[in-house]
Amino acid sequence: MPGKLDVAIIGAGHNGLVAAAYLAAAGLSVTLFERRDVVGGAAVTEEFAPGFRNSTASYTVSLLHPKVIRELNLAAHGLTIVPRPMQNFLPLPDGTALCAPAELPALAAQVARHSVHDAERLPAWQSYLAEALEPLRDLALRTPPTDVARWPDLWRLLRWGGRLRRLSAARQRTLHELFTRSAGDILDDWFESDALKALYGFDAIVGHYASPYSAGSGYVLLHHAFGELHGQRGVWGHAIGGMGAITQAMAAEATRLGAHIETGQAVERIEIRDGRACGLQLADGRQIKARLIAANVNPKLLYLRLIDPQQLPAEFVAAMRRYRCASATFRMNVALSELPQFIAAPAPSAASAASAANRASAASGANGDHLGAGIIIAPSLGYMDRAFAEARLRGHCSEPIIELLIPSTLDDSLAPRGAHVASLFCQHFAPELPRGRSWADAREPMADLIIDTVTRYAPNFRRAVLARSALSPADLEQRFGLVGGDIFHGALGLDQLWAARPVLGYGDYRSPLRGLYLCGSGAHPGGGVTGLPGHNAARRILQDWPTLRRVHRMRRVRQHAGTVRSSHA
Ligand SMILES: Cc1cc2nc3c(=O)[nH]c(=O)nc-3n(C[C@H](O)[C@H](O)[C@H](O)COP(=O)(O)OP(=O)(O)OC[C@H]3O[C@@H](n4cnc5c(N)ncnc54)[C@H](O)[C@@H]3O)c2cc1C
Repeated sequence: MPGKLDVAIIGAGHNGLVAAAYLAAAGLSVTLFERRDVVGGAAVTEEFAPGFRNSTASYTVSLLHPKVIRELNLAAHGLTIVPRPMQNFLPLPDGTALCAPAELPALAAQVARHSVHDAERLPAWQSYLAEALEPLRDLALRTPPTDVARWPDLWRLLRWGGRLRRLSAARQRTLHELFTRSAGDILDDWFESDALKALYGFDAIVGHYASPYSAGSGYVLLHHAFGELHGQRGVWGHAIGGMGAITQAMAAEATRLGAHIETGQAVERIEIRDGRACGLQLADGRQIKARLIAANVNPKLLYLRLIDPQQLPAEFVAAMRRYRCASATFRMNVALSELPQFIAAPAPSAASAASAANRASAASGANGDHLGAGIIIAPSLGYMDRAFAEARLRGHCSEPIIELLIPSTLDDSLAPRGAHVASLFCQHFAPELPRGRSWADAREPMADLIIDTVTRYAPNFRRAVLARSALSPADLEQRFGLVGGDIFHGALGLDQLWAARPVLGYGDYRSPLRGLYLCGSGAHPGGGVTGLPGHNAARRILQDWPTLRRVHRMRRVRQHAGTVRSSHA
């Protein structure tokens, strides 16, 4: 490591790794300091029981931007992402189910079993979502204009306004509605079937501690729909080897480009001199000097724990104290001796022969495709609304909202032959429990509640569980540094998005301190394994410090000339 780094990055989550790769590619000397012994942050694969590996936190892919996949050569570093054979499967309390294949005609056929009216509305619904998603996708790659007192920001805002002006009034209304209304109100207007409304409503509360009837949840629904897989919009898939395969590929590319990664190195403090971030103090006592610092950590952690508040404007510190972090998420991995047999779907072995030549049964899950789907246990918007109300009152709900995914049905690298692993991603579990109860005491009873809930829909589930590893919101904070257990580094509320993420005036990856940047999910466009905050922050840094880039380019040219001369000597 050189005496003084160009850029020191705090945290080697996926966004830190992406930023490192782009900065190193521009010739800057970059080192990442990661607290854990493994890179990847919330996108990691770890062994949780002997012989059983799984993604520990984040578990499914769609939001990872194709530009990042392409420019970081992730496929060349071994990343393979496969689509789910069926997107979603919603078992219902009456023993039926809604199957949701990716293609519209197959989806419409399944929805028609519940409501012909809703099946007929599906094409219009998809166009309605697409109208709002296009500008959102465009915005995701751009630096938000965050302080219109600055001419460049004002100009960017005007340019963006100009683009909005070209949209028809109807399209502007669509955008306004989806950004401001509740997903529940919107879905009630469009559809009549509880199951279909639940399918879409689930996206509105994932990682979002709210009711589907809370204003602004329409945006969260969009946030989960703006991804794509192999060019297919809105489709989710599985990274072979788990989410850690994504971050291992990113680390390989960052390293190839010259970035250094130090794991097991917690940053304790950011050194500041004359209003400028100039280095890091590591927990082991080492001092690191750096021209620039990029923080991949939650903004609350960055500004309230790693920096002396005296060094920041008081009003900024107050805004950071108000920054909301709570996704009310409980995450569990289980090792399974056998696949769950859902009351609502035939066991795969019994049905596979009959379904081989039958597309309709494939779409309905009769060939076992439903076991490769995101299995959603949340049969109605009312169920999700009650879960939120209960969690607000008691700290957790009695009927949890669960997405169950069994990646070993698509990936034999995760479990011993014949056995399986499942991810359980559950809402609503408040970060702090009332009446002085602690998550250390509540964790295992909650894990039992979740297993019992799945068992009501798949009676062999509890008996199939060989081992489990549960992470409460408090565990997510302790293990990954996710403040309040917030999976997105801050709630995706309208007050904390775009130019106001994390705070209005600093939504452009900069901070109140010169030389300090935010490159994690607490910056635009927010959480999820997208790679975009890292990508956009690196671009911001390179735009702000063009001289660093030029100096390094010249240094590289000189080194290259030296190598050529010595090879000719
Ligand atoms: C349970 C769960 C499920 C999720 N499911 C999905 C999903 O299926 N799909 C999806 O797209 N997204 C999902 N997400 C969201 C997504 O994983 C996160 O938004 C994303 O991974 C955050 O990436 P990041 O690089 O911004 O930050 P992080 O991944 O949080 O990385 C920050 C890094 O900083 C390190 N760090 C913290 N403090 C210090 C310090 N003092 N010194 C040095 N290092 C430090 C941390 O250890 C960590 O490695 C999920 C998240 C969770 C928690």
